[in-house]
Amino acid sequence: MKVLWRPVIGLEIHVQLASLSKIFCSCSTDYIGAEPNIHVCPVCLGLPGALPVLNKRVVELGIRAALALSCTIQNKTVFHRKNYFYPDLPKAYQISQYDLPLAVEGELFISSGGGLKRIRITRLHLEEDAGKLVHSASDGRLEGSDHSFVDYNRGGVPLAEIVSEPDLSSPAEAREYIARIRQLVRHLGVSDGDMERGSLRVDANISMKKTSGDTGEVLLWGERAEIKNMNSLKAVERALDYEIRRQTNLLAEGQTLFRQTRHWNDAEGVTTAMRSKEGADDYRYFPDPDIPPIFIPESLTESIRASLPELPWIREERFRKEYALPLADIEILTESLPLAEYFEECVRKGASPVRCSNWVRTEVLRGMREKGCSIEAFPVSPEDLAELLIPIEKGEFSTTVAREVFNSMLEGRSLAESIEAADAASGGLSGSALEDMVRSVLASQPDVAAEILSGRDTAGKKEKFLAGLVMREARGQADPKEVARLLSLFLKEG
Ligand code: ADP
Ligand code: MG
Ligand code: ZN
Repeated sequence: MKVLWRPVIGLEIHVQLASLSKIFCSCSTDYIGAEPNIHVCPVCLGLPGALPVLNKRVVELGIRAALALSCTIQNKTVFHRKNYFYPDLPKAYQISQYDLPLAVEGELFISSGGGLKRIRITRLHLEEDAGKLVHSASDGRLEGSDHSFVDYNRGGVPLAEIVSEPDLSSPAEAREYIARIRQLVRHLGVSDGDMERGSLRVDANISMKKTSGDTGEVLLWGERAEIKNMNSLKAVERALDYEIRRQTNLLAEGQTLFRQTRHWNDAEGVTTAMRSKEGADDYRYFPDPDIPPIFIPESLTESIRASLPELPWIREERFRKEYALPLADIEILTESLPLAEYFEECVRKGASPVRCSNWVRTEVLRGMREKGCSIEAFPVSPEDLAELLIPIEKGEFSTTVAREVFNSMLEGRSLAESIEAADAASGGLSGSALEDMVRSVLASQPDVAAEILSGRDTAGKKEKFLAGLVMREARGQADPKEVARLLSLFLKEG
């Protein structure tokens, strides 16, 4: 009998919410690169008698993300204590949510196999981050360290945990799902979504299912493993690929798997067992007596809903219909909201969508990389870019000249200054100087001119020959379109 092994994958994504202060105190959330233990206070250090106060902004950001994921915001939500001891957790419990999370039952659509696939979202809840342990070993790992330091700057930084149902069926789908969540939180301004810096962290749950190739009947459900410590999309994909092979091999040999938490070792490309998985019972969850239940007014939810920007997938669909651009180009243009807005503004000012898309995806992105600046701070405004692209359309500028003008604007010069500079650089071979040159070439070739005028030059070969002469005369410093335009104009004039 033919059997198939299929992975079943569910993700838990922690997103650092973009509030300025921590979730239960007024300490700064700016922990990256900060001197250790400066953004701390009695609350986030868990000192006796200190009382947490919930940050309203964090709740609002959580609702914003949850609504964009089509979740239901729960009218009543409660914070629980999740008890466990680890030195990065000074209270020996983490304030998190349990049976009454902020939001439940959402969905997200990912592209898979040429179509859209619906991934159900189980819940979105809020919690505090733990501190960071710094181990003394030179490679920074716990193994081989004789002591460790604790930095509590990150302790109490707000997180939203987004839990999916186990609806993902390949590492590629998992990757696509994470990329979508990242795009979404960035788009909403809810988080910077930076995986390398830890603002977006993924735990992947994976199990293998053995089915009959003939009937599709499930023959065996393998136990699942939860993989931690993946800090890039690539790492998630590799870790899942590894886990599929490992679990399938063991199950195929007839072994039994146990629920485990595993660690991804990126350098060696393997997962290793960390611990057997704790159940909820081990954490002794109970409602935090210091934080009363939160009742979320309908009016707050509705005002946040009304403030949501156009969602990325809806924008993509609109770009496809309105501008008839290829999907791959649309994905680049809509990766961030400000870039999409830049593109649309330029089109609104009259640039053709296709040309504008080409320029934004190449010249503008290159300029941003070179200048190390964001699109908001980009020296060439969308209006300027439109004013540059429209003349190309009309054949008044060659692409080469337009690029020169663009580069000059990148250096901070105005559009007018840049056009003047480009004209000067091309040896003044536009305007009257170029006209004179075209006239003199025509005058030197009366026979050819006569032949064209008699209508015998049907393939336009002779006209190209004349244009070639002008270009040679101009030593390439003229716009070919402009030369062609002048030639046919003067020929008609006789
Ligand atoms: P835990 O208590 O371990 O956090 P949850 O029920 O909250 O367990 O589920 C955590 C994640 O595990 C969810 O993303 C869910 O989709 C995923 N998951 C549940 N069942 C499976 C399974 N059989 N295989 C893979 N992932 C699963
Ligand atoms: Mg969980
Ligand atoms: Zn604090």
